Amino acid sequence: MMRGLLWFLVGALILLNLLVWFSDDGVELDHDKPIVLSCDTASQLPATNIPPLIDTPKTALLPNSSAKKKQTPLPLLTPNNQAPISAAQPALPPYRIEPVAQLADYFAQKGLVDAQSIDSRLRTNLAYSQPDNFIGQTLYADLTACYVLPRTAQMLAKAQVALHAVHPQYDLLLLDCARPRRVQRELWNAVRHDARLRRYVAPPTSGSLHNFGAAVDVTISDQDGNLLDMGTPYDFMGDLAQPRHHQRFLQSGQLSQTQVNNRLLLRRVMRQAGFLSIETEWWHFNTCPIAEARRRYQLLE
Ligand SMILES: [Zn+2]
Repeated sequence: MMRGLLWFLVGALILLNLLVWFSDDGVELDHDKPIVLSCDTASQLPATNIPPLIDTPKTALLPNSSAKKKQTPLPLLTPNNQAPISAAQPALPPYRIEPVAQLADYFAQKGLVDAQSIDSRLRTNLAYSQPDNFIGQTLYADLTACYVLPRTAQMLAKAQVALHAVHPQYDLLLLDCARPRRVQRELWNAVRHDARLRRYVAPPTSGSLHNFGAAVDVTISDQDGNLLDMGTPYDFMGDLAQPRHHQRFLQSGQLSQTQVNNRLLLRRVMRQAGFLSIETEWWHFNTCPIAEARRRYQLLE
């Protein structure tokens, strides 16, 4: 009798544990702690209200759709007492810009999609499609569409849903997406002579996740197109742009609590969608670790 009761209690305990385990969504993300999710893990995250991935016909990726939309110049924020680092020494020869149709066609051939074909509320303002960037040169002609892996596009749509859940009037604004290695080479050439600056750009030999369409640079825009104040401009090459120094700059007053909160909001929604954040740039998010990208995806030359 006692033994039967004991087995009943053990059974009930196991059942209770199983119920708790299945009811836990298993995704508890801490804002400041780096997390490591593989692409596979990320794809298992809940996808509420995400439009389905459409196998976009190649013609829809060509420039008479989103690739030629008018793009306004990227507004830059003035960081506290620090000017953005301007380019590049020595002076670079002008980059031979490819026609936008050729570039869009190349991305489509490599299986990339225009992120706005998955979620039309994603905004773009590609920094390297205009000369007002850290190397002072246009690298993408008038490309305005954000080309990424289909998986990256779906994750961006999830992040947008997560953002709208807390701030319906805000949108993600994409600053750089897929980046062929020939463009990576230009960025590298702009900084390689400066030991301080070259820490911020991956050399083309080792490559960046942007070279697979598996990374995005992104910020948040309000409904009028104004960027949230993140404390530095995009591509600011200094400690002030690095999330690992938030506490230090909060204490010194060089970052305000609002600026840090804006960065944490961006980080939170991107992580909720499965992106990996890094501790050296508030705007950069990876779809998966680089080893996985090398194994699974094509390099964009
Ligand atoms: Zn980046």
